[in-house]
Amino acid sequence: MIDLRSDTVTRPSAAMREAAAEADVGDDVYGEDPSVNALEAAAADRLGAEAALFCPSGTMANQVAVRTHAEPGQELLCERLSHVYQYELGGAAALSGLQTRPVDSPPRGVVTPEQVRANLVVEDDHRAGTGLLALENTHNSRGGRAIEPDAIAAAADVAREADVPVHLDGARLANAAVALDVPVDRFTHAVDSVMLSLSKGLGAPVGSVLAGEEGFIDRARRVRKLYGGGMRQAGVVAAPGHLALENVDRLAEDHANAGRLADGLAAIDGLEVQPPETNIVLVDVDGLGLDVEAFLERIADAGVEATPLDETTARFVTHRDVDREAIDESVAAVERAVG
Ligand SMILES: *Cc1c(COP(=O)(O)O)cnc(C)c1O
Repeated sequence: MIDLRSDTVTRPSAAMREAAAEADVGDDVYGEDPSVNALEAAAADRLGAEAALFCPSGTMANQVAVRTHAEPGQELLCERLSHVYQYELGGAAALSGLQTRPVDSPPRGVVTPEQVRANLVVEDDHRAGTGLLALENTHNSRGGRAIEPDAIAAAADVAREADVPVHLDGARLANAAVALDVPVDRFTHAVDSVMLSLSKGLGAPVGSVLAGEEGFIDRARRVRKLYGGGMRQAGVVAAPGHLALENVDRLAEDHANAGRLADGLAAIDGLEVQPPETNIVLVDVDGLGLDVEAFLERIADAGVEATPLDETTARFVTHRDVDREAIDESVAAVERAVG
């Protein structure tokens, strides 16, 4: 089976397993795990931030950021198809007591400065105000769109001028950096906090980092504890995560494979393929007269797995465990299944 459901399915490399086995460890809740401390320092450096916090997942890192930035009753302003709104079990409401004000930014998920200006709520006797603007890059549900640093800054500047903090969900920020050929920290100067997943295309088995100013990270560390994310000898997972930071450049391979997959699928009658910008390929299957579940079932029978995005759209994600040859096999399998 060729697994293109997500880049989260990547398995740790031999070097990562070795790093885990040999990691120097201590109790990280006491701040005494040298491997965690080294990862946090390296991640802060990469992200152009003062400090960073190692979290068990991207979802926890995002929700820790939300809780640290905003007060109950305030609003979370974000894009309608953003992960923090769609796929985190209503965490902003359930864990932080926020109400969410989503804005719709088709086709690429770029929230505009005008949208921010029009949807910021100023605190008064009747309204709790906007507590946080959350942006996402790459934008997952809009097809892994690599949003330019200037576009991120333009939206963020409007919020920050109104004293509203900005969080960047950069689960795949390294993919955006590689696609646009800029360093990862080009995206982070304009925001107050950023999350980067180590466990997606970068290939670590576990974990994400949250980065920001020192005072913010100190407060975030307490929220992580509140959420049950204070880990003890976490160096065994931080050490492979540290190696993952070295895997940024290889994401170019995943992007090339996504392009190859898109070209192959576009040649199949009935499939409408959105040209990929990074490692995510969205395919509209409506022209086959099938719904997405029927399509996914057929291609799974032929040996390829993908995920549903909506009733007619399937999502394929390329990653380090699927090489160019497997991409060609995938195209052939989909052709056999529906061609
Ligand atoms: C995967 C993802 C997350 C959550 O990360 P997990 O480690 O799966 O919890 C958050 N935001 C975006 C955009 C993602 O793609």
